[in-house]
Amino acid sequence: MTTDTPSWTLVLHGGSGSMTRHTLSPEADAAGRAGLHAALAAGTAVLAASGSALDAVEAAIRVLEDDPAFNAGRGSVFTADGRIECDAAIMDGRDRNAGAVAGATATRHPIVLARAVMERSPHVLLAGTGADAFSRDHGLEQADQDWFAIAERRRQLDELLADPDGPFDIGMKYGTVGAVAVDGAGHVAAATSTGGLTAKKWGRIGDSPLIGAGTYADDRAAAISCTGAGEYFIRLGVAHEIAARVRLSGCSIEDAADMLIGELGDIGSKGGVIVVSPDGSGGWAFNTPGMYRAIATHDTTPEVAIYGDE
Ligand code: ASP
Repeated sequence: MTTDTPSWTLVLHGGSGSMTRHTLSPEADAAGRAGLHAALAAGTAVLAASGSALDAVEAAIRVLEDDPAFNAGRGSVFTADGRIECDAAIMDGRDRNAGAVAGATATRHPIVLARAVMERSPHVLLAGTGADAFSRDHGLEQADQDWFAIAERRRQLDELLADPDGPFDIGMKYGTVGAVAVDGAGHVAAATSTGGLTAKKWGRIGDSPLIGAGTYADDRAAAISCTGAGEYFIRLGVAHEIAARVRLSGCSIEDAADMLIGELGDIGSKGGVIVVSPDGSGGWAFNTPGMYRAIATHDTTPEVAIYGDE
């Protein structure tokens, strides 16, 4: 390519799952697409202004965390006892610095809290009341539980609790959000944010805030963010495994992503991943009927999709 414009790529997901043209309402379809477009706009504004991949993924995730259409920040799913507990992680491919929080209950933007853990503490992962205290101590914007709580999510919890074996398929409604980017300098970053699974209990933590499971970034290989049944992603170490295969076997990010999604299927699970490479390529792989996803680059029109056939 001969251009003076720095090349960059941003890829987003808003969760994978059972959504099809028949099961998703026109309103939910439109809300999902609008949210992804808004997040792409926020992230690409950073990259087009020669900002870093790290700033771009944070900017995109902040928009999705404020959007009740997604299961992250405002609009997170409820725990079994009717609370909101947010998980988030962010990782910088330049030096593999990383920060994450699990079970955070009072920070408006969990991804900002994860980044503060990375940049303002000697730690990588803080959980529960400690994460909340760190957030207050560092003056991050707070939000009360009512701000996160959305009526539709309460309805989903009530439906599930009323009939745990009923048609509500807990394993198939993922609305986690993720972003991966490569900037004009060839650096990659990844970020993931989620409320986890509806009716989770016992302090359950999924893959999203676990570096190497749901989130990973390494300038030598790729940046990855995952969505799906977190327990399986933890078992396979999906995000780090994709990066490792690119780095050690020299396969493309597309092939590595396809391999891991195949192996996820082999152990009986479903989900999706988004990936970018330091060379500027980006994409996704998933084995669910749909995945909220979007991609924008310096020289292509932004693309947003939900269903498997688009
Ligand atoms: N991976 C998330 C979790 O297990 C769920 C999701 O992708 O929506 O917490």
